[in-house]
Amino acid sequence: MTTTPTKEGSAAVQARRVLVLNSGSSSVKYQLLDMNNRSRLAIGLVERIGEETSRLLHTPLTGGDAETRERTGRIPDHAAALKEAAEELAADGLGLDSPELAAIGHRVVHGGLRFTRPTVITDEVLTEIERLVPVAPLHNPANITGIRTAQALRPDLPQVAVFDTAFHTTMPEHAARYAIDVETADAHRIRRYGFHGTSHAYVSRKAAELLGRTPEEVNVIVLHLGNGASASAVAAGRCVETSMGLTPLEGLVMGTRSGDIDPAVTFHLKRVAGMSTDEIDVLLNKKSGLLGLCGDNDMREIRRRIDDGDERAALAFDIYVHRLKKYIGAYSAVLGRVDAVVFTAGVGENSAPVREAAIAGLEELGLVVDAGLNAVRSGEPRLISPNYARVAVAVVPTDEELEIADQTFALVGQAESAGQEVPVGEVDN
Ligand code: ADP
Repeated sequence: MTTTPTKEGSAAVQARRVLVLNSGSSSVKYQLLDMNNRSRLAIGLVERIGEETSRLLHTPLTGGDAETRERTGRIPDHAAALKEAAEELAADGLGLDSPELAAIGHRVVHGGLRFTRPTVITDEVLTEIERLVPVAPLHNPANITGIRTAQALRPDLPQVAVFDTAFHTTMPEHAARYAIDVETADAHRIRRYGFHGTSHAYVSRKAAELLGRTPEEVNVIVLHLGNGASASAVAAGRCVETSMGLTPLEGLVMGTRSGDIDPAVTFHLKRVAGMSTDEIDVLLNKKSGLLGLCGDNDMREIRRRIDDGDERAALAFDIYVHRLKKYIGAYSAVLGRVDAVVFTAGVGENSAPVREAAIAGLEELGLVVDAGLNAVRSGEPRLISPNYARVAVAVVPTDEELEIADQTFALVGQAESAGQEVPVGEVDN
């Protein structure tokens, strides 16, 4: 425990822990970090909230062996989920009532145009996040529930929102606007916002570090390939283009999302196939992408099937890679000069075949992958291009939770060191 002597000579606890919460519609992921050395004290996940088969997985990381504890049985709502997580943390001596907890950082998916940086959550900020629900109906309500639950648990503590969209707010108008009627677009706040911004920010910065340069000195293309997937073009540390749009549906082929399609496909499905708007929404968000193409959305399984000679899996892989190539080419043109193409997230960090296939044939763009380096498995940022390549190709593991903790802690620390009181939102019980 870090302590600082007070004027009276007693020891006051210096709060240097941050709890990071990522609240989904039926899940909550959490991590408790010690900002003295930016290490994790515990990580956990509550899933299937509201179902009979809810499950909490909690892993304390303070001891030698990281042993995961499991609780099963119905967890009715987010408040109960957070309460149970708090009990698990308390059992490890990491209770959320500890004076060492400095703040709670929340991942908030949609911050619209207003939130360009991490923001301390006041009532007014929460109202604004609520106002964005129509453009993020799947995500923001869950984030709001998480915030309210955490506020009720520690009403005295600063809560910080870190927005998925924030990093992309630097996109120029010509990249952010759709070519549709301006009045209609503005009336309904229809534009390209982009998502996964916390990851794109972190990874593009780390890539610059890997190249031994400052973020301002480099132009990079980041390919965040998880279950959701997005690309971004980052020029001198600022995002100038990204593949997701009004919602996370646009862009790359994903695990279960289609990515780019002709928007008229939706009219066709409605008029000709007789599907409802909700059915089309589910089709394109949950039953498309790799899953829709071949019945599997896990790249490991798809590669196994390809090795067994499965043609549907092979075609799904080719469609996935073809889209990636199109974006690499497009973003090379947008940036003019590219210093690095960077792979991250579950597929990007782990699938050598995806990286190899996405870069194959792009020698004219200065892009080459070294087969030996590409085959190396490592949790560290690394180059996979040969020394002679004009453009670096890299793998940089993403760490959105660490980025949220860093941004949260920096914001709370800044406010405190500037002698300002950190505003705390009122609790709405
Ligand atoms: P998200 O955070 O979007 O849920 P992740 O970034 O954790 O997703 O990525 C999950 C995906 O990563 C899985 O669906 C799987 O396709 C892929 N993946 C994970 N490990 C591997 C691996 N060893 N090889 C290939 N793909 C992998």
